Amino acid sequence: AKMQGRGLYCVFEPSMGEHLRDRRQFEHDIRHAISRKELRLVYQPQAQLQSNEVFGFEALLRWDHPERGAVPPAVFIPVAEECGAILKIGEWVLRTACAEAASWQQPLAISVNVSAMQLHGGNLPELVGAVLKETGLDPFRLELEITETCLIKDIGRALAALRQLKSLGVQIAMDDFGTGYSSLSNLRAFPFDKIKVDQSLIRAVDTSDEAAAVMRAVFGLARGLKLPVLAEGVETDAELTFLRQEACDAIQGYLLGRPCPISDFAQHTSGKGRT
Ligand code: C2E
Ligand code: CA
Ligand code: CA
Ligand code: CA
Repeated sequence: AKMQGRGLYCVFEPSMGEHLRDRRQFEHDIRHAISRKELRLVYQPQAQLQSNEVFGFEALLRWDHPERGAVPPAVFIPVAEECGAILKIGEWVLRTACAEAASWQQPLAISVNVSAMQLHGGNLPELVGAVLKETGLDPFRLELEITETCLIKDIGRALAALRQLKSLGVQIAMDDFGTGYSSLSNLRAFPFDKIKVDQSLIRAVDTSDEAAAVMRAVFGLARGLKLPVLAEGVETDAELTFLRQEACDAIQGYLLGRPCPISDFAQHTSGKGRT
């Protein structure tokens, strides 16, 4: 253990050996999370801003580890990407989310996050095609969320994969817009159907003129490219008021609903309400 700074807190520093063993155990656990049935999806509603109508859900992955408890995706997804486990996990997410959405009585949209390795791994279009066929989900109801860091690794290959995906009839959203650095050129070059603006750009629009100006510039850009904008992570009425004034198209965030098991949203997915 080591004292840090002014002694306000202590940090346990395991030896290098312990680090490696821990890491190897963690990777081992991730690889077995599917077969051990420790993964599940929660769903977060997305709504049109004008009509307030919920039009779809984003599927978000949860890992209930037997000893560690709930491990946040921000912690385990990067590790799953580094050890390659994300390919199998991503396939499980896609299949589970599409099967779930295909069972809904209303034809709502389902958004699925796709990681860089899945996009560059080569067979994502084939996988998506197979899952659509197998689940019977209408392709236009599936939206794949892709971050730009995912694209710049190999632009030619990413573009080819996205075009193949578009030819299947699925929607493509640029996720986390505003957190990368090459957003502007990528937006024009890739066949996006929607821009999802990161919550870091939304958070201060109601309290900072500068943040509001940045957001207005994003709306101007999106209008120029004729792309609808969904604002992510909307938490307050003040943020909502700003987004309404700027004619933002859609929102997602705690204000509308937290990510929850799909049974919590039965009024949207079954029409009559499940029991
Ligand atoms: P993301 O794709 O940007 O997902 C949105 C994140 O913001 C989610 O965090 C969601 O719970 C959170 N969020 C939504 N509304 C609000 C809000 O109003 N306020 C705040 N503070 N947060 C809000 P989550 O579920 O922890 O996921 C974190 C990230 O992990 C995701 O960010 C995504 O990059 C990744 N992820 C999650 N599920 C998957 C998956 O199935 N596959 C892949 N490749 N990545 C995933
Ligand atoms: Ca996302
Ligand atoms: Ca996002
Ligand atoms: Ca705010």
